[in-house]
Amino acid sequence: MNLVQLLVRTARSRGERAAVAQGAGILMTYRTLARRAACLATALSRRFGLQPGERVALAMKNGPAYLEVLYGCWWSGLAPVPMNAKLHPREFAYMLQTSGARLCFATPELTAGIGGETDGLDDLMEVIDVSTPLYDSLFQHDETAPAERGLDDLAWLFFTSGTTGRPKGAQITHGNLWTMTACYFPDVDAVGPDDATVYAAPMSHGAGLHNFPYMAQGALHVIPESGGFEAEEFYRLLEVHRGVGAFFAPTMVKRLVEHPGASEAVLEHLNTLVYGGGPMYVADLKRGMEVLGNRFVQIYGQGESPMCITALTRDMHAERDHPAYEQRLASVGRAQMLVELRVADAEGRSLPPGETGEVLVRGPSVIPGYWQDPEATAKTIRDGWLHTGDVGSLDAEGFLTLKDRSKDVIISGGTNIYPREVEEALLTHPRVAEVSVIGRPHAEWGEEVVAFVVARTPVPTAADLDAHCLTQIARFKRPKHYRFLAALPKNAYGKVLKTELRRVLAEGESCRET
Ligand code: AMP
Repeated sequence: MNLVQLLVRTARSRGERAAVAQGAGILMTYRTLARRAACLATALSRRFGLQPGERVALAMKNGPAYLEVLYGCWWSGLAPVPMNAKLHPREFAYMLQTSGARLCFATPELTAGIGGETDGLDDLMEVIDVSTPLYDSLFQHDETAPAERGLDDLAWLFFTSGTTGRPKGAQITHGNLWTMTACYFPDVDAVGPDDATVYAAPMSHGAGLHNFPYMAQGALHVIPESGGFEAEEFYRLLEVHRGVGAFFAPTMVKRLVEHPGASEAVLEHLNTLVYGGGPMYVADLKRGMEVLGNRFVQIYGQGESPMCITALTRDMHAERDHPAYEQRLASVGRAQMLVELRVADAEGRSLPPGETGEVLVRGPSVIPGYWQDPEATAKTIRDGWLHTGDVGSLDAEGFLTLKDRSKDVIISGGTNIYPREVEEALLTHPRVAEVSVIGRPHAEWGEEVVAFVVARTPVPTAADLDAHCLTQIARFKRPKHYRFLAALPKNAYGKVLKTELRRVLAEGESCRET
């Protein structure tokens, strides 16, 4: 079943409800959104001759056009390729070329970058700037009936964030996204028709995937005028819109919490902050709950099982009296409704509770494979199980605690050290704002622990941090070196680039070492 039915059905039963707002202003109802998607679909097939299954890329900052382009593509059976707006033109070119996208919709500031790198883009017919009369003219076509699509058909070609090497195209199907949506209501948030979602994080990623439950319910989709995340603007939007839920990366939660805008009146309109996409450290989460209250739900997913592996519900965040409360806060929660989860050793054998191994996932949320990459598919999906590359352990009640990506585990003197544990410890120091821990080769120990720290003033010394670690973690896990940076290197999704930190170490680039 085609995902576009989410919009078709809502437009039929709740057509007069407000669908899209920009800032405080309502832009269109569900009836209008559906009509625009249907007209765009006609333009895509008649004017550009696109056939179901072909790809259409989006190089767009968050904006009202995002939803109409996504749903216009699905209406005509096409597969969108949403690309993060912060990527380099060379990265856009790689994704356009690899996906064989026939058209690319772009916001004005990104069109030039795409036009400039046309080598090898033989499939690409046109880049359509969504701020121009050409884009507007696409809505002058007649409406057409929505295309039929099967659950196994490609719905969203999602290029993984590529913190190491080239991004791979995860082929997310209609069935994968129906599954994610079905799990959302019991496991993440029971969105209702009077709620609203604010797209503060990139719509090319988790925030965009977040649209489905809101579309299903006929709730409001709010695009911030900045097209992104500014804490002050987010608080201002809370003054206007009610029942707000948003998908946030952990770094955004931190910025929101540090901003003084949280008042009782404003928070009354904030239902849920769904966070995920990277580790949320316990110290940051506790601070977040102090300032924003119990409005948090965590999800753990990856492009290969989008938004849909585990969830740590609002109730779990609230159970302060539970004997395992601290461990639970440090976990990513339990398997979502339609997901099977286990932790396995290198041979794929299930490990008992408490033991650490690779996280494996099976179920209808898991992609069938990578775009034109059977080798990577065979490596990642074995015997029907998605090998996530994440290392973690389950407890007896099914709570999963993630340690790290398998390639980031440090092995020192034959013992595994999980950087996440060291990072959690350092973040409890009041003068540590951000931290990332990696291993570097060491002649005697195999690897040794190095911490990159973004400090608050007055900057602590390495000796201060070492003393602090001694109160928190085993001696052998303590960093042997500290490097202080103004900021950690991050990719377009805000994930710390440990490969970049390793390169800095290997090349001996200057930053203050103690
Ligand atoms: P991506 O495919 O770009 O969405 O990246 C997915 C990866 O982000 C996962 O494999 C995890 O390593 C990490 N990740 C996602 N959600 C969480 C979470 N809640 N806690 C820790 N890491 C996460």
